[in-house]
Amino acid sequence: MPELPEVETVRRVLSNNILNLKIIDIDVRYPNIIEDDIDYFKNNIINKRIKSIDRLGKFLIFNLDDGAFISHLRMEGKYYYLEKGSIDNKHIHVVFHFDNGYSLYYQDVRKFGRMIYKNSDEIYETKPLKDVGIDPILNKKIDYRNIYDKIVLRSVSIKTTLLDQSIICGLGNIYVDEVLFLSKINPHRLSHDIKYDEVVNIVDNTVKVLSKAIEYKGTTIKSYTSSLNVYGEYQQFLNVHTKTICPVCHSPLLKDKINGRSTYYCKNCEV
Ligand SMILES: [Zn+2]
Repeated sequence: MPELPEVETVRRVLSNNILNLKIIDIDVRYPNIIEDDIDYFKNNIINKRIKSIDRLGKFLIFNLDDGAFISHLRMEGKYYYLEKGSIDNKHIHVVFHFDNGYSLYYQDVRKFGRMIYKNSDEIYETKPLKDVGIDPILNKKIDYRNIYDKIVLRSVSIKTTLLDQSIICGLGNIYVDEVLFLSKINPHRLSHDIKYDEVVNIVDNTVKVLSKAIEYKGTTIKSYTSSLNVYGEYQQFLNVHTKTICPVCHSPLLKDKINGRSTYYCKNCEV
Protein backbone atom coordinates (compact mmCIF):
# COMPACT_ATOMS: atom_id res chain seq x y z
CA MET A 1 0.00 0.00 0.00
CA PRO A 2 1.41 3.41 -0.88
CA GLU A 3 2.00 5.48 2.24
CA LEU A 4 2.13 9.25 2.74
CA PRO A 5 5.62 9.74 1.22
CA GLU A 6 4.69 7.78 -1.90
CA VAL A 7 1.40 9.66 -2.29
CA GLU A 8 3.23 12.98 -1.79
CA THR A 9 5.70 11.92 -4.49
CA VAL A 10 2.83 11.16 -6.89
CA ARG A 11 1.35 14.59 -6.05
CA ARG A 12 4.61 16.38 -6.79
CA VAL A 13 5.28 14.57 -10.07
CA LEU A 14 1.73 15.07 -11.35
CA SER A 15 1.85 18.74 -10.30
CA ASN A 16 4.83 19.18 -12.61
CA ASN A 17 2.90 17.71 -15.51
CA ILE A 18 -0.83 18.29 -15.54
CA LEU A 19 -1.58 21.69 -13.99
CA ASN A 20 -3.76 23.96 -16.09
CA LEU A 21 -4.59 21.21 -18.59
CA LYS A 22 -8.25 21.01 -19.49
CA ILE A 23 -9.98 17.65 -19.13
CA ILE A 24 -11.93 17.12 -22.36
CA ASP A 25 -13.20 13.58 -21.80
CA ILE A 26 -13.19 10.76 -19.22
CA ASP A 27 -13.41 7.02 -19.87
CA VAL A 28 -14.69 4.99 -16.93
CA ARG A 29 -14.12 1.30 -17.61
CA TYR A 30 -14.70 -0.08 -14.11
CA PRO A 31 -17.52 1.97 -12.53
CA ASN A 32 -16.91 0.83 -8.93
CA ILE A 33 -13.78 3.00 -8.77
CA ILE A 34 -16.08 6.04 -8.93
CA GLU A 35 -18.15 6.54 -5.79
CA ASP A 36 -20.54 8.95 -7.55
CA ASP A 37 -23.06 8.35 -10.25
CA ILE A 38 -20.81 8.17 -13.35
CA ASP A 39 -22.63 10.93 -15.24
CA TYR A 40 -22.48 13.22 -12.20
CA PHE A 41 -18.73 12.59 -11.91
CA LYS A 42 -18.10 13.23 -15.61
CA ASN A 43 -20.39 16.23 -15.94
CA ASN A 44 -18.71 18.00 -13.05
CA ILE A 45 -15.16 17.38 -14.27
CA ILE A 46 -15.23 17.53 -18.08
CA ASN A 47 -14.29 20.96 -19.47
CA LYS A 48 -12.55 21.98 -16.26
CA ARG A 49 -8.85 22.55 -15.70
CA ILE A 50 -6.74 21.03 -12.93
CA LYS A 51 -5.58 24.11 -11.02
CA SER A 52 -3.59 22.44 -8.24
CA ILE A 53 -3.14 19.12 -6.50
CA ASP A 54 -3.25 18.87 -2.71
CA ARG A 55 -2.79 15.93 -0.37
CA LEU A 56 -4.31 15.10 2.99
CA GLY A 57 -2.95 11.92 4.54
CA LYS A 58 -3.07 9.42 1.70
CA PHE A 59 -5.77 11.22 -0.29
CA LEU A 60 -4.95 13.18 -3.44
CA ILE A 61 -7.16 16.22 -4.09
CA PHE A 62 -7.27 17.39 -7.72
CA ASN A 63 -8.58 20.96 -7.47
CA LEU A 64 -10.49 22.11 -10.54
CA ASP A 65 -11.64 25.60 -11.62
CA ASP A 66 -14.55 24.78 -9.37
CA GLY A 67 -14.78 21.73 -7.10
CA ALA A 68 -12.30 18.88 -6.92
CA PHE A 69 -12.03 15.18 -7.37
CA ILE A 70 -10.49 13.16 -4.58
CA SER A 71 -8.51 10.00 -5.27
CA HIS A 72 -7.29 7.28 -2.90
CA LEU A 73 -4.87 4.72 -4.34
CA ARG A 74 -5.58 2.13 -1.63
CA MET A 75 -3.51 -1.04 -2.25
CA GLU A 76 -2.25 -0.82 -5.81
CA GLY A 77 -3.49 2.34 -7.55
CA LYS A 78 -1.08 4.06 -9.93
CA TYR A 79 -1.22 6.99 -12.33
CA TYR A 80 0.45 7.22 -15.71
CA TYR A 81 0.68 10.48 -17.67
CA LEU A 82 1.24 9.56 -21.30
CA GLU A 83 0.23 10.45 -24.82
CA LYS A 84 -3.34 9.44 -25.59
CA GLY A 85 -3.56 5.81 -26.73
CA SER A 86 0.04 4.92 -25.79
CA ILE A 87 -0.89 2.43 -23.07
CA ASP A 88 -3.71 -0.04 -22.68
CA ASN A 89 -4.28 -3.02 -20.41
CA LYS A 90 -7.14 -4.58 -18.48
CA HIS A 91 -6.06 -2.93 -15.23
CA ILE A 92 -6.61 0.62 -16.49
CA HIS A 93 -9.99 1.63 -15.13
CA VAL A 94 -10.29 5.39 -15.52
CA VAL A 95 -8.70 7.66 -18.15
CA PHE A 96 -8.80 11.47 -18.12
CA HIS A 97 -8.09 12.94 -21.56
CA PHE A 98 -6.53 16.40 -21.74
CA ASP A 99 -6.62 19.12 -24.37
CA ASN A 100 -2.89 18.67 -25.15
CA GLY A 101 -3.15 15.13 -26.58
CA TYR A 102 -2.03 13.48 -23.33
CA SER A 103 -4.06 11.41 -20.88
CA LEU A 104 -3.91 10.55 -17.20
CA TYR A 105 -4.40 6.80 -16.80
CA TYR A 106 -5.51 5.27 -13.52
CA GLN A 107 -4.39 1.65 -13.22
CA ASP A 108 -5.35 -0.54 -10.27
CA VAL A 109 -4.73 -4.30 -10.28
CA ARG A 110 -6.67 -4.84 -7.05
CA LYS A 111 -9.48 -2.36 -7.93
CA PHE A 112 -9.66 -1.04 -4.34
CA GLY A 113 -8.87 2.57 -5.25
CA ARG A 114 -11.67 5.14 -5.18
CA MET A 115 -12.47 8.56 -6.70
CA ILE A 116 -15.21 11.00 -5.86
CA TYR A 117 -16.17 14.50 -7.03
CA LYS A 118 -16.86 17.23 -4.46
CA ASN A 119 -18.16 20.78 -4.80
CA SER A 120 -15.75 23.36 -3.36
CA ASP A 121 -17.63 23.77 -0.09
CA GLU A 122 -17.86 20.01 0.46
CA ILE A 123 -14.22 19.01 0.02
CA TYR A 124 -13.11 19.10 3.65
CA GLU A 125 -16.57 19.16 5.23
CA THR A 126 -17.82 15.77 4.03
CA LYS A 127 -16.54 12.20 3.95
CA PRO A 128 -13.92 11.01 3.27
CA LEU A 129 -11.73 14.02 4.18
CA LYS A 130 -13.72 15.18 7.20
CA ASP A 131 -12.76 11.99 9.08
CA VAL A 132 -9.04 12.24 8.32
CA GLY A 133 -6.81 12.93 11.34
CA ILE A 134 -3.92 15.36 11.71
CA ASP A 135 -1.52 15.31 8.80
CA PRO A 136 1.85 15.61 10.59
CA ILE A 137 3.57 17.00 7.49
CA LEU A 138 0.98 19.68 6.67
CA ASN A 139 0.30 20.66 10.29
CA LYS A 140 3.06 22.90 11.54
CA LYS A 141 1.58 23.47 15.01
CA ILE A 142 0.89 20.04 16.41
CA ASP A 143 -1.30 19.77 19.50
CA TYR A 144 0.40 16.88 21.33
CA ARG A 145 -2.08 16.94 24.19
CA ASN A 146 -5.00 16.50 21.82
CA ILE A 147 -3.31 13.51 20.12
CA TYR A 148 -2.44 11.98 23.51
CA ASP A 149 -6.04 12.39 24.74
CA LYS A 150 -7.32 10.48 21.70
CA ILE A 151 -4.69 7.72 21.77
CA VAL A 152 -5.29 6.81 25.42
CA LEU A 153 -8.99 6.25 24.76
CA ARG A 154 -8.14 3.26 22.59
CA SER A 155 -7.77 -0.25 23.97
CA VAL A 156 -6.06 -1.71 20.87
CA SER A 157 -2.29 -1.93 20.24
CA ILE A 158 -0.44 1.31 19.52
CA LYS A 159 0.43 0.01 16.05
CA THR A 160 -3.27 -0.55 15.27
CA THR A 161 -4.10 2.95 16.51
CA LEU A 162 -1.41 4.54 14.36
CA LEU A 163 -2.51 2.59 11.26
CA ASP A 164 -6.06 3.89 11.75
CA GLN A 165 -5.93 7.27 9.97
CA SER A 166 -8.35 9.10 12.24
CA ILE A 167 -5.88 10.45 14.86
CA ILE A 168 -2.66 10.89 12.88
CA CYS A 169 -2.98 10.28 9.16
CA GLY A 170 -0.43 9.07 6.65
CA LEU A 171 1.34 6.32 8.58
CA GLY A 172 1.16 2.90 6.96
CA ASN A 173 2.76 -0.41 7.77
CA ILE A 174 6.39 0.35 6.87
CA TYR A 175 6.67 3.73 8.54
CA VAL A 176 4.76 2.73 11.69
CA ASP A 177 7.41 0.07 12.37
CA GLU A 178 10.15 2.65 11.84
CA VAL A 179 8.49 5.30 14.01
CA LEU A 180 7.89 2.87 16.90
CA PHE A 181 11.50 1.66 16.71
CA LEU A 182 12.86 5.21 16.92
CA SER A 183 10.40 5.91 19.76
CA LYS A 184 11.50 2.71 21.60
CA ILE A 185 7.91 1.49 21.91
CA ASN A 186 6.85 -2.12 21.45
CA PRO A 187 4.15 -2.20 18.71
CA HIS A 188 2.01 -4.57 20.83
CA ARG A 189 1.72 -2.08 23.73
CA LEU A 190 -1.86 -1.07 24.35
CA SER A 191 -2.71 2.47 23.36
CA HIS A 192 -4.19 3.38 26.75
CA ASP A 193 -0.85 2.55 28.43
CA ILE A 194 1.16 4.97 26.29
CA LYS A 195 2.56 7.92 28.28
CA TYR A 196 2.36 11.57 27.24
CA ASP A 197 6.13 11.80 26.64
CA GLU A 198 5.94 8.71 24.45
CA VAL A 199 3.22 10.32 22.34
CA VAL A 200 5.45 13.37 21.89
CA ASN A 201 8.22 11.02 20.72
CA ILE A 202 5.89 9.18 18.35
CA VAL A 203 4.69 12.42 16.76
CA ASP A 204 8.19 13.91 16.46
CA ASN A 205 9.56 10.70 14.97
CA THR A 206 6.60 10.54 12.58
CA VAL A 207 7.49 13.99 11.25
CA LYS A 208 11.17 12.98 11.04
CA VAL A 209 10.59 9.66 9.25
CA LEU A 210 7.95 10.93 6.83
CA SER A 211 9.91 14.09 5.95
CA LYS A 212 13.02 12.12 5.16
CA ALA A 213 11.01 9.52 3.21
CA ILE A 214 9.44 12.32 1.14
CA GLU A 215 12.91 13.74 0.50
CA TYR A 216 13.97 10.31 -0.82
CA LYS A 217 10.70 9.90 -2.78
CA GLY A 218 9.37 7.03 -0.68
CA THR A 219 10.33 3.42 -0.30
CA THR A 220 10.57 1.10 -3.25
CA ILE A 221 9.65 -2.24 -1.68
CA LYS A 222 6.81 -2.56 -4.13
CA SER A 223 6.94 0.36 -6.46
CA TYR A 224 3.97 2.72 -6.53
CA THR A 225 5.66 5.55 -8.34
CA SER A 226 7.55 3.67 -11.06
CA SER A 227 4.65 4.43 -13.45
CA LEU A 228 5.84 8.04 -13.20
CA ASN A 229 9.50 7.02 -13.61
CA VAL A 230 10.27 7.75 -9.97
CA TYR A 231 12.05 5.21 -7.79
CA GLY A 232 12.00 5.78 -4.05
CA GLU A 233 15.25 5.42 -2.14
CA TYR A 234 14.19 5.59 1.49
CA GLN A 235 14.61 1.80 1.86
CA GLN A 236 18.32 2.39 2.57
CA PHE A 237 17.31 4.15 5.81
CA LEU A 238 14.95 1.49 7.15
CA ASN A 239 16.01 0.26 10.59
CA VAL A 240 13.62 -2.62 11.20
CA HIS A 241 10.97 -3.12 8.50
CA THR A 242 12.00 -6.18 6.41
CA LYS A 243 15.27 -6.40 8.44
CA THR A 244 16.57 -9.26 10.58
CA ILE A 245 19.09 -7.72 13.03
CA CYS A 246 18.57 -4.72 15.29
CA PRO A 247 20.94 -1.91 14.21
CA VAL A 248 21.24 -0.72 17.84
CA CYS A 249 21.66 -3.82 20.05
CA HIS A 250 22.37 -6.37 17.26
CA SER A 251 19.91 -8.95 18.58
CA PRO A 252 17.60 -10.71 16.09
CA LEU A 253 14.47 -8.70 15.27
CA LEU A 254 11.06 -10.27 15.82
CA LYS A 255 8.58 -10.52 13.00
CA ASP A 256 4.94 -11.17 13.72
CA LYS A 257 1.49 -10.02 12.66
CA ILE A 258 -0.60 -7.21 14.08
CA ASN A 259 -4.02 -6.96 12.44
CA GLY A 260 -2.68 -9.19 9.69
CA ARG A 261 0.15 -6.75 8.90
CA SER A 262 3.79 -7.89 9.07
CA THR A 263 5.42 -6.19 12.03
CA TYR A 264 9.16 -5.93 12.69
CA TYR A 265 10.55 -4.85 16.05
CA CYS A 266 13.31 -5.36 18.61
CA LYS A 267 12.16 -6.72 21.95
CA ASN A 268 15.22 -5.29 23.71
CA CYS A 269 15.02 -1.76 22.34
CA GLU A 270 11.25 -1.45 22.11
CA VAL A 271 9.57 -1.87 25.47
ZN1 LIG B 1 17.61 -3.65 19.62
